[in-house]
Amino acid sequence: MTAPSRPPSVDKLARSLNSSGLPHPICVDVARAAIEAGDPDSAARRADEFRRTLLTPVVNATGVLLHTNLGRAPLAHHQDASAQTVEFNLDTGQRGSRQAAVGQLYARLCGAEAAMVVNNNAAAVLLVVAALAAGKDVPVSRGESVEIGGSFRVPEVIEQSGARLVDVGTTNRTRLRDYEAAITRANVDAAMVLKVHPSNYRVEGFVEETSIADLATLDVPVVADIGSGLIDATVPWMKGAPPAWLAGEPAAVQAIADGADLITFSADKLLGGPQAGIIAGRADLVERCLQHPLARALRPGGLVLAALQRIALIYLDRQAGTEIPFWKMV
Ligand SMILES: *Cc1c(COP(=O)(O)O)cnc(C)c1O
Repeated sequence: MTAPSRPPSVDKLARSLNSSGLPHPICVDVARAAIEAGDPDSAARRADEFRRTLLTPVVNATGVLLHTNLGRAPLAHHQDASAQTVEFNLDTGQRGSRQAAVGQLYARLCGAEAAMVVNNNAAAVLLVVAALAAGKDVPVSRGESVEIGGSFRVPEVIEQSGARLVDVGTTNRTRLRDYEAAITRANVDAAMVLKVHPSNYRVEGFVEETSIADLATLDVPVVADIGSGLIDATVPWMKGAPPAWLAGEPAAVQAIADGADLITFSADKLLGGPQAGIIAGRADLVERCLQHPLARALRPGGLVLAALQRIALIYLDRQAGTEIPFWKMV
């Protein structure tokens, strides 16, 4: 019989993991776990497993261009570690608006009066509904009461905003007169209508939706969550006709031109930017969003604002096809 061997020292085992490149405190945790499991030899494998839990560059070979699990639009952004005018007005020498620089560029890009930025499109919809419709009703087509990846669910967002969802029409067909009936119903106090693009599925056959242009004839503001942030349906930054897979994808310029009072979209889908949400449209409605207390909680940081500014300038320079990694990949 041999005497049971003493377990190796945690410190010695942790130091043997140095070549994993993991910080020492993590190596200590891994070594301790391996010893506690009675399997010190598993330490290297455990270190490797830990490393695989960290964010890692990968090749997107899924065939899905914008994969939420793989970070959506690929983007490199470098900026110097220098102070920048995030909330500073160079002309007055006073505090400025965090939203001014980027807001004016996205307004120009979308053909809208004004625009602002929040952390993602879910935040954009939440803020718009809270600012325009808290305590009031929001008619939404039953065909657009959707769930979109990562638990963005239209009824729940409206509830969180403090507004009440009013179901309109049917799952497959919703006409303008359905909205008119909902808005004029005695017990309904509609503050806006919300149109949502069902980005991740399609209903085919006996289907009908109400266009933004038709909704714009209603007496209440039309808010369109266009989702992917395609700036212009004519895709002027690509040679030739728009690719077939973009058919039916709502675009910012056309949604505003058709009469949407506000649009919201993600910045890290077809726009090709960092994770953010853009709200664009009527200046008075954007101002109500800016003034809402949630706007402070949902505001992006300087890194994201700088990346968004660069993306907007590239579009305005008509260089999106060659300068934005997502569109280069397309
Ligand atoms: C992707 C998407 C969202 C959610 O946007 P996030 O930026 O992920 O928060 C909401 N609405 C529509 C229509 C979408 O396509």
